[in-house]
Amino acid sequence: MERYKQFINGEFVDALSGKTRLIYNPATEEPFAEVPLADREDAKAAIAAARKAFDSGPWPGMSIRERARYLYKVVENLKAMEGELAMLESMDAGATIRKTTMMDIPVGIEHMRLLVELAEKMDLYEPLPWIDFPRISWNFVAREPIGVTAGIIPWNFPFMMVIWKAAPALIMGNTSILKPASETPLTALKFAQAVADAGLPPGVFNVLTGPGSTVGEELASNPGVDKIAITGSTGTGRRIMELASRTVKKVTLELGGKSPTIVLEDADFEQSVDGTLFGVFFHAGQVCESGTRAFIPASRYDEFMEKLVDRVGHIKVGDPQDFETTMGPVVSKAQYGRVMGYIRKGLDEGAKLVTGGRRPDGFDKGFFIEPTVFENVRNDMTIAREEIFGPVLSVIKYESEDDAIAMANDSMYGLGGAVFSTDIPHAVEVAKRIRTGTVWINDYHLINALAPFGGYKQSGVGRELGTYGLKEYTQVKHIHVDLTMDRSKKFWYDYIFDD
Ligand code: NAP
Ligand code: MG
Repeated sequence: MERYKQFINGEFVDALSGKTRLIYNPATEEPFAEVPLADREDAKAAIAAARKAFDSGPWPGMSIRERARYLYKVVENLKAMEGELAMLESMDAGATIRKTTMMDIPVGIEHMRLLVELAEKMDLYEPLPWIDFPRISWNFVAREPIGVTAGIIPWNFPFMMVIWKAAPALIMGNTSILKPASETPLTALKFAQAVADAGLPPGVFNVLTGPGSTVGEELASNPGVDKIAITGSTGTGRRIMELASRTVKKVTLELGGKSPTIVLEDADFEQSVDGTLFGVFFHAGQVCESGTRAFIPASRYDEFMEKLVDRVGHIKVGDPQDFETTMGPVVSKAQYGRVMGYIRKGLDEGAKLVTGGRRPDGFDKGFFIEPTVFENVRNDMTIAREEIFGPVLSVIKYESEDDAIAMANDSMYGLGGAVFSTDIPHAVEVAKRIRTGTVWINDYHLINALAPFGGYKQSGVGRELGTYGLKEYTQVKHIHVDLTMDRSKKFWYDYIFDD
């Protein structure tokens, strides 16, 4: 069993308490690694290190170009570890090796490169229009780092989420403390190795492997942290926002979803059936923007469902470390129980199970669940309202497009969604009426590192990726330069002087 250490102030260290936690492979239920079990004291040590690195270290004062040189080195180091990262991510999170080798690791690394490159092109100074009131002055806006930032990340895309939190924070001149999910800390620790090998100054980047209830809460409440960003459930987001409010930290919240896929009457079913299934069953449904509610027109319903059930049969559930497998287990026993609970709830509330709903035959170990499709779902049923985060699709039949859009928007969430249609201008009109942060037309899940990603409504606050995401790691300073050069002309000083 491999023993890992966490990364604080440029060093790999055990938890101050000496306690550890076992890491399990969700496909075998066997432990295969051990990490430090950090608590509030470790969090305080990391905050002190990040604080010192920001307040008196060289990092925030470097030019973006200088920081980029370090971060491109991190990118190179990560590339050299690609195979190892892909295997670790698969064993840790239950992601298929097929997906981690083709997507999570190479795309994650590419996102980092793109974000650093984008930051290099960003204008850090913005001139303001000349103004001659009360007399002529020169005004501009400077973008500056925020300070010590903390990133709290989930277990669904552990490596990609490290990149989304660490890359923008670091390139914009902040120092960063990362808390991976308790279930999936390993690739974050490998990222720390890549940072250490690139020679970043101590304290600039830190990883704590400990629970949300102690380490997470310390990061969200400690006055030494200036900004906190989380990807996770809406409940946790609310808690973090509440804790952060006490010291008025900046927050970015990337939370849950219950995203709609709207198939229009004129859609091409070859594309839209596979698109709908890709939208919901990618990574066993453990994706925040998953299209978990499919709205299908009554006029073509039977035809669509027949094709859909046939295509579900082409999803191969099995050992995630086998390259032929296209769907692995869910991440943990707790998640397995949660998803199975929702499936029971769907049946209890009167939805009709079309396929799946069970542990697949031949798997007595591992947290495997068959791809599951419910029909006759009403938009007010629990399975259509709450985030399940597992391989469960709710199909809702609609009569008119307006009804479909109204139901799509009748949700506390607003993260993603899709429209399938052969009439692109019309699909764009429909996309504009969906109240979510991202809408794909005739596709799903393609995240563009140059485009903003985030939620409307209770799916979040702020945006990640693109210049929008980089700006969330800066604050703006207005600088006013007086050009009067003559005390006697500064009549506004007379507001306080009598001569
Ligand atoms: P979660 O509790 O929201 O976990 C996300 C992250 O927040 C983890 O690193 C977690 O640490 C941390 N955290 C938890 N409680 C915290 C607190 N009070 N203060 C600070 N940090 C805290 O999600 P989960 O319990 O693992 O999963 C529950 C459900 O959340 C899932 O079924 C799914 O519906 C949803 N979820 C959504 C996303 C998304 O991307 N939208 C991602 C993951 C989960 P620990 O790992 O130590 O608990
Ligand atoms: Mg949790």
